[in-house]
Amino acid sequence: MEASNKKKVYKAHILFTKDQSRFEVLENGYVAVEDGCVVGIASDLSTLIGQGSMVNGQWSNGTCCDAEVVDFGDRLLLPAMNDLHVHAPQYRNQGIAMDLELLPWLQNYTFPEESKYADTAYAERMYRRFVRDLWRFGTMRSCVFATSHTESTRLLMRLFREAGMGALVGKVAMNRNCPESLSETVEEMVQVYENLISWCSHEGNLTPHSSLLPPRVRPIITPRFIPSCTPEMLRACGRLAAKYGLPVQSHLSENRDEIALVQALEKDSTCYGDAYDRYGLFGQTPTVMAHCVWTEGEELELMKKNGVMVAHCPTSNFNVASGMAPVRRFLDEGLRVGLGSDISGGHDLSIFRMMVYAIQVSKMLYQQDHGQPFLTLSEAFWLATKSAGSFFGRVGSFEPGYEFDALVIDDSDLNHDHYSLLERLERYIYLGDDRQILHRFCRGKEITEPKY
Ligand SMILES: [Zn+2]
Repeated sequence: MEASNKKKVYKAHILFTKDQSRFEVLENGYVAVEDGCVVGIASDLSTLIGQGSMVNGQWSNGTCCDAEVVDFGDRLLLPAMNDLHVHAPQYRNQGIAMDLELLPWLQNYTFPEESKYADTAYAERMYRRFVRDLWRFGTMRSCVFATSHTESTRLLMRLFREAGMGALVGKVAMNRNCPESLSETVEEMVQVYENLISWCSHEGNLTPHSSLLPPRVRPIITPRFIPSCTPEMLRACGRLAAKYGLPVQSHLSENRDEIALVQALEKDSTCYGDAYDRYGLFGQTPTVMAHCVWTEGEELELMKKNGVMVAHCPTSNFNVASGMAPVRRFLDEGLRVGLGSDISGGHDLSIFRMMVYAIQVSKMLYQQDHGQPFLTLSEAFWLATKSAGSFFGRVGSFEPGYEFDALVIDDSDLNHDHYSLLERLERYIYLGDDRQILHRFCRGKEITEPKY
């Protein structure tokens, strides 16, 4: 059973964002959870019980039934974090090799490290640490690139399942401009994906938990990016996504050299996004594209039209010297955007810290163009929670019907004077780390530290 069925009411200072413009703040508020989902939220218990008639009779006769009330006292209760773009096999490279741009960085650091994942013992050692560290930083859902290896990708999915955390895990497809050890034929790629999908079905990974909730750990079709895939490979990826109704993730318009390379490889395409679109990899099924630093014009319009989501990775933008993604413009245009750590182009796994970096990137852009206001704290928080969470289902908010993915923050060491609740949240985002995260929940179930 994936979710806890028992009714629970949690009491704490509750902060979340229904929309990007402002925080919802419930001082000493209550949130009711059943079968993994929020069924009610209110500032006081009597109001929560009064919501009974609206929550399918779960609060019969206006009483609180047999729900257990858990009082977190003076702690903060926040939606858990979502990482929309992270490379699990680059975990060892986190914080090194920060002296190269994208293409030489791939050749000299990334591909040699990913080649090691043919060895499942090595993969298990590294992936266990990686999953544990996602847990540490309160990231309960992530969109993950694995490698092209079948067994180590299967292992990573198993580790997420055992931990109780949600993940879309991608076996990476690639067959050009990469080392022989990471390359495969189109037929091999299709066969491996079908084996993986069949294994997932067998393991229950493709069986919905209920009519409302999608499986917590699922495969995601993952062509590395266009320079790594021949047209036949991209076409096969698009067919697999359509055939099995699976989401798609890749990289888009990160770096000017990369964009020029894509134009040279896909001569008929009108832009980088159009090249994916021609292969059925640009919103035909739910799609998230990392970076989009240089996305504009036709590509931006196509993303809007197809509902393609942006994974904004601000630390990676700086480290790999790619540029600064114009998130304010994306939001004003109505694009869907979330945040990603992009380990190891990015160096920091904390999505809280990613909010800070996203605000700082937007302030750098504001220096160049005062017509583009920088991101506010509520906007950055919303990007990391409700907006990014939408890629996983109804995730990232405490509105009724949302899955209860939550963090309990004990900020007593940071709250040494008379700070307001919003100031406490801001201080935690800017100054806090994993030490203040007291409890983590995914789909209503408390997730304890993976014991490795
Ligand atoms: Zn990436």
